[in-house]
Amino acid sequence: MSEEEQSLFVNCPVCAEELEIPSEAWDEFEEGDILVCESCGAELQIASLDPPEFDLLGLLTECPSCGAEIELTDEQLEENSKVTCPDCNTTFNVEFEDAE
Ligand SMILES: [Zn+2]
Ligand SMILES: [Zn+2]
Repeated sequence: MSEEEQSLFVNCPVCAEELEIPSEAWDEFEEGDILVCESCGAELQIASLDPPEFDLLGLLTECPSCGAEIELTDEQLEENSKVTCPDCNTTFNVEFEDAE
C-alpha cells in the first residue's frame, strides 16, 4: 500500500485556468507566498492555506512591441484599461483570454 500523492487544484481568478499544485509543493507554501498562473501570468498571494484562498496581486503581461514584462495593478485589471510600456512607451489595451 502506498500513499497516493494528491494534487491541489485551484482556479485562477483571472483566466479561470485550473492550476495543479502537487501536495508536496503545497506543504512548503506559507501564507503570503506568491503563485504565478502559468496561463495568464496573474500573481496570486496565498491568503489562507486551509482552505486555500488567494488574493489577486496583479498580472504580468508582455509588451506586444518590445516583449518587456509589465506588472499591472488591480485597478488596471478592473478597468481593462490602456497600459503604457515603461521601456518603449508603446500603449496597448489589456486583454484577457476567456477560458472556455
Ligand atoms: Zn490565470
Ligand atoms: Zn515595450
